[in-house]
Amino acid sequence: MSRKILVVEDNPDNMKLVTWILEDDHYEVTGVCSGEACLEQVQRDTYDAVLMDISLPGIDGKEATRRLRAMDQFRALPIIALTAHAIKGEDDDIRAAGVTDLITKPLDEDQLLKRLRELMT
Ligand SMILES: [Mg+2]
Repeated sequence: MSRKILVVEDNPDNMKLVTWILEDDHYEVTGVCSGEACLEQVQRDTYDAVLMDISLPGIDGKEATRRLRAMDQFRALPIIALTAHAIKGEDDDIRAAGVTDLITKPLDEDQLLKRLRELMT
């Protein structure tokens, strides 16, 4: 069984890129484009990890992460934040929301796959 990853990303080009990287490494990918859709999707299916864009329409990736963490069944779910904000201080804020790890965009394919593997061993 391949591992299932939920990708939360509102930018179609980024979504395409992340999906391509993950599928090429034999992950099964589900993509949603908002935090609200993420919160619905995790109730419909079970995922091994979530890749969470931070800047999203509606609730942002931090708020979506907080809401996931508030539910018992998602306390330990690996959540990797994908963020374009390379601003110091913002990182702490994102980590405080409860993400497991944080990756700065533009995405480095090898780094992403390595972090995912580490989180899911
Ligand atoms: Mg975005």
